[in-house]
Amino acid sequence: MESYNSFQITQQQVLEASKILKLDSATIDLLLWPQREFIFTFPVKMVDGSIKIFHGFRVQYNYARGPAKGGIRFHPNETIDTIRALASWMTWKTAVVDLPLGGGKGGVKCDPKNLSERELENISRGYIRAIAPFIGIDKDIPAPDVYTNPQIMVWMMDEFETIVNSHQPGVLTDKPLEVGGTEGRRNATARGGVITVREACKSLNIVPETFAIQGFGNSGQRAALLHKELLGVGKLLAVSDSRAAIYNEKGFDVKELVSYKLKNGTVKDFPGSIPISHEELLELEVDVLYPAALENSITKENADKIRAKIICELANGPTTPEADLILFERGIHIIPDILASAGGVTVSYFEMVQDKYSYFWDEELVNQRLDNKLTKAYHTVKDAMEDKKVHPRLAAMVVGVARVAEVCKLRGWV
Ligand code: NAD
Repeated sequence: MESYNSFQITQQQVLEASKILKLDSATIDLLLWPQREFIFTFPVKMVDGSIKIFHGFRVQYNYARGPAKGGIRFHPNETIDTIRALASWMTWKTAVVDLPLGGGKGGVKCDPKNLSERELENISRGYIRAIAPFIGIDKDIPAPDVYTNPQIMVWMMDEFETIVNSHQPGVLTDKPLEVGGTEGRRNATARGGVITVREACKSLNIVPETFAIQGFGNSGQRAALLHKELLGVGKLLAVSDSRAAIYNEKGFDVKELVSYKLKNGTVKDFPGSIPISHEELLELEVDVLYPAALENSITKENADKIRAKIICELANGPTTPEADLILFERGIHIIPDILASAGGVTVSYFEMVQDKYSYFWDEELVNQRLDNKLTKAYHTVKDAMEDKKVHPRLAAMVVGVARVAEVCKLRGWV
């Protein structure tokens, strides 16, 4: 299979949006590259007493609209280009939902499945020691992403607070409630995605009766639980994780499937399921397909076989540009990642605000404010789609890029 460089894909998307907006060449050059990036190594003591050197990355793609914001991934295939791409998407994503933030992303090249808890803690603390001077609530605020979690955020926050010798809960978000986390964060990405599906279904007159989920991790599981709760209907026909894809024509019992995944670490062999291939899952006839795994799953090789009516991209970058065009021509409605998965960063922003004021909201208020933000963003993107006569991803990019370009101009950078 052809391999895709996600960063080149984001640059292509920025260029296309810039052309529609008729931006000048200095603005385009500014938006095509990260403003600042850190590539570093750091030593970690392993449980057998040996020292291992890990490779870390942090990219602050653009901070015109506010401090950089974006997750930290622990992944064996991490590269600077993946991090650049994700940091770029965070820039457009925070702008699409109109948050006063820029875009960032970080990562460590490691395989968490082969690390003990103590080693994960040592890696988390070592990573923060390397970037501590460059992060903070007014500079850059990391959060969890693939294979990182709230516990890792607490270790990181604790290390940062030790270094700066003060209480700084807002330096990282998605923390547990006990240490300055917010209500509603656990469900936020998925809730935001399902809210955009609700708005899309209203606009397109679709009843979202059946759905499938690629990637049954944090976001995938939450979307499975929220789909029916928020939309009133919904049979989950298929799910996958890195080890298996499974199908049940009658629809899974979502709560049981989530408990099974949490207990066994995989959905493989869930009672009553039929094993299918990862490709078959993507090609199932469903009303809504939620890609919630990694990048580049829907490509020109499989785009003409996709039969979902709506694709709600909870993952970052699951669809390649060629596939976008094929899906658009075939009338499949994509809710692009920078809109569909923006619920996470929106509630992370709410967490920063609450940490700054040391005053916390209840879950109902968080969910209501999230709903307002995502509903407004969905319709802004839809209006741009109709106004510029472009596909949804390009419309979302046009909205995000225009907002960032405007602030760069006001600041006198270009
Ligand atoms: P996660 O690590 O909890 O889940 C990822 C899941 O994908 C795992 O179950 C893994 O087994 C599965 N997976 C990996 N490779 C796969 C493959 N080839 N086929 C099928 N499944 C595969 O991560 P998450 O937090 O749920 O994030 C998932 C995606 O959503 C990522 O792209 C992430 O960047 C994006 N995202 C997450 C958030 C968030 O708040 N968690 C916010 C915005 C975007």
